[in-house]
Amino acid sequence: MHEGLVQADRPVDISLDRSAGLRIAIVGGGISGIAAAWYLKRAKLDNFLVFESSSEPGGTWHDNRYPGAEVDIACHLYSFSFNRYDWTQRFGSQAEVKRYLEKTIDEFGLRSRFRFGATVVSAAWSDEKKLYTVSFADGRTAEFEAVISCVGFLSVPVIPPGIDLAAYPGIACHTARWPDDISLAGKRVGVIGTGSSAVQIVPEAAKVAKSVTIFQRSPNWILPKKNRIFTARQRTRYQTSWQYRFKALKEFLRYEWARIGRPERLGSKINRRMRTAAEAYLRRSLAERPDLVEKLLPDHPLGAKRAVASGDFYAAVQQPHVAIAPAVARMDADGLIDEEGNRHELDVVVLATGFSAADYLSRLEVVGRNGADLHTVWSGEPAAFLGSCVPGFPNFFMLDGPNSNSGTLLFILECQARFAADCLAAMVRAGGATVEVRRSAFDGFNRRVQERLEKSVYKTTRNYYAAASGRIVTQWPFSATRFWWMTRATRRSSMKID
Ligand code: NAP
Repeated sequence: MHEGLVQADRPVDISLDRSAGLRIAIVGGGISGIAAAWYLKRAKLDNFLVFESSSEPGGTWHDNRYPGAEVDIACHLYSFSFNRYDWTQRFGSQAEVKRYLEKTIDEFGLRSRFRFGATVVSAAWSDEKKLYTVSFADGRTAEFEAVISCVGFLSVPVIPPGIDLAAYPGIACHTARWPDDISLAGKRVGVIGTGSSAVQIVPEAAKVAKSVTIFQRSPNWILPKKNRIFTARQRTRYQTSWQYRFKALKEFLRYEWARIGRPERLGSKINRRMRTAAEAYLRRSLAERPDLVEKLLPDHPLGAKRAVASGDFYAAVQQPHVAIAPAVARMDADGLIDEEGNRHELDVVVLATGFSAADYLSRLEVVGRNGADLHTVWSGEPAAFLGSCVPGFPNFFMLDGPNSNSGTLLFILECQARFAADCLAAMVRAGGATVEVRRSAFDGFNRRVQERLEKSVYKTTRNYYAAASGRIVTQWPFSATRFWWMTRATRRSSMKID
């Protein structure tokens, strides 16, 4: 992590009055923090605060401000079920998504609950007091009966070994730490990586930069992405609630439909068909450049790493001032040297090297019953029930937790937010002090998930889905409908209230 980029804490009011109800801390003010806040309000659990280390809300949509950043899930599906928005295009830009999140916070009166510049470092359960003591980076503490972690899993940037950002003589930054004052115009730009972030930034950089060099360790599958600017008529139509919902449903069914035949299963017919289509797209797009076909044709099965959606990357790489170079061997005070020993003179180097996704909650210490530390319990293999809760950690919930990542991201997040709020509301109604997942439910759930993942394409190559041991810890291998059903139907049998 680039140390200088950590936000300094500011003294903000961090405690709540117990007489106003169950005190709940939401850690993280991004899309999942907003969902958690809304569902708590809906469940009449109104005594909560949202702690956000940054100075603004939005989480990943605040951090990832690099040129070309946009959502690659259709906006009507990438919307909260409780708040519509006048999207200008099918795939909104980072700025548009951020505006939507800000508007949601304001429309639902949530801003007063946000505590910006408040970095939570730990939450420790007391069995005696039946609450968590939450500690902040500035040394202060506050007590809460429940904690909901909304820190996301794509938030801690990967800085590869051999790369010393601070020592590099030019400008160097990670895509998720984009300096607001940086301009790529007329510059010699290097982009390290070929994932979703790199594929978005390269075409934008190529429009203005003197040169763009992509440092590729391995190529990724790219699927065509057809953005569409909505006409005034379409936008008016989507103002109507049912039309908006119908559009979102259509996009949702597109994902659910694509899951039929299990595209993630190694060797499945649908996986092979999708690979054939992606390869045809690559060969068609690069018909004039057989040299690039060779360089950009992946050797892993489609979906083994998250496939990238782009309509302009292949066009961008064919421009004369765009080049593909081998991976970076080292980058320090001496400059940037690739793995073939070539030195590259660059004014700006962008690390599109992704996030340590499998290392869940890496910046948050969570201590449960009997002093058990969550990271010790996980021993490098994060697991949870519905990506939400872990036995031995009462009143603690996660959104976007282990094995809940899926294409219908926001839908899953909302299922988890509603699940957490419902569990806590049931506990209050029952007059209990704790709600916790049963060990049997947790074990059964994770056995089924891992069995399903055993023969998946995810196990065939290096990706951010796997823990160091090789266990796939990020992906949800079933349909989103099944996730929804489980969050609704299993609460009584899987959670115990004391
Ligand atoms: P990523 O998919 O993890 O890609 C990281 C890239 O960096 C890969 O090409 C990887 O190469 C390369 N890399 C990592 N370590 C390296 C090293 N030591 N040396 C050389 N290359 C290295 O990261 P990302 O592109 O930031 O995307 C992460 C996720 O964020 C996406 O999958 C998506 O879920 C989300 N995202 C979404 C959007 C959106 O449109 N909504 C946009 C951006 C990101 P290898 O492939 O060889 O490992």
